[in-house]
Amino acid sequence: MTAAARPTTLRDVDELCERALVPRERVAELAEVAARYAVAITPAMAELIDRGDRDDPIARQFVPDARELDVRPDERGDPIGDHAFTPVEGIVHRYPDRALLKLVNACAVYCRFCFRREMVGPGRGGLSPKALKAALDYIRAYPQIWEVILTGGDPLVLSARRLKAVVARLAEIAHVKVIRVHTRVPVVAPERISAALVRALRVPGQATFVVLHVNHPRELTGKARAACARLVDAGIPLLSQSVLLRGVNDDAETLGALMRALVECRIKPFYLHHADLAPGTAHLRTTIAQGQALMRALRGRYSGLCQPAYVLDIPGGYGKSPIGPNYLSEDAALVEDFNGRRHRYPPQR
Ligand code: SF4
Repeated sequence: MTAAARPTTLRDVDELCERALVPRERVAELAEVAARYAVAITPAMAELIDRGDRDDPIARQFVPDARELDVRPDERGDPIGDHAFTPVEGIVHRYPDRALLKLVNACAVYCRFCFRREMVGPGRGGLSPKALKAALDYIRAYPQIWEVILTGGDPLVLSARRLKAVVARLAEIAHVKVIRVHTRVPVVAPERISAALVRALRVPGQATFVVLHVNHPRELTGKARAACARLVDAGIPLLSQSVLLRGVNDDAETLGALMRALVECRIKPFYLHHADLAPGTAHLRTTIAQGQALMRALRGRYSGLCQPAYVLDIPGGYGKSPIGPNYLSEDAALVEDFNGRRHRYPPQR
């Protein structure tokens, strides 16, 4: 294949129509959605979408939907309250021992449920050298910051050279012991996980973790698995975070298959996020009760390695809380097993 014929990321509704991802008659209304929230579907994800399935779970995550223009009163532009905890540009310092460093506001794909959909998009840029220096100075000034989480946007859209420079500068700060990278790139653009990029993330003597955002087992294609293996083989532990999404992974079989596939790839399931109150995303959210029922369905039937923590980011910036289900009665006298049977636990002093 010549360079000219190489597939590229689809970025507007006309291109989606040409690739049979949206019907011609819906182009006008979906162009309105795309004008409001960024669109990008990488070749790896475009290839994965089953055009014959109107409810394809990959399409639901990336192809715009007219329902995104329906913004509910409880939804908000900054659902997890980043702004309230941003002391300098690029930093979110919500918890005492860790801080987010948002390097870039662009992503390889734009997820239709994105909690930062008002903040990310092509052309939104990233930290200027001056802002990056100020952000690093902030981290340096707070010795309690033990862990720095590189996020955005997606930090792995940056070049290996830029990532290496940032990771090296963080590694020079003595109290920063752990660097965590939040990314969707190994799944949506696995070809970006080059040897140079893997090397950029590693600093001898420093712990780097990569947390992979993945929502459906089909996303773990052969190429995605190989990209993840390149990271793990280089000594970078992988964890996962998934968003519970209606019509994507809100059934026990799909969710269980996703968790098993992750563990088989040496990726420990970490978080299952209840979908945030991002604007225009009600059609993709489940209820918390449905999420708890799914977690119950996983418990006992799938290995302990396959159990993520089901968490809710409390709107307003109050942080993440695990939201169950709970197996212990309020007085700790009864504990429920994975079959729903209750058992006495002896009184405690
Ligand atoms: S990759 Fe993350 S930040 Fe980017 S659009 Fe998806 S959810 Fe949002």
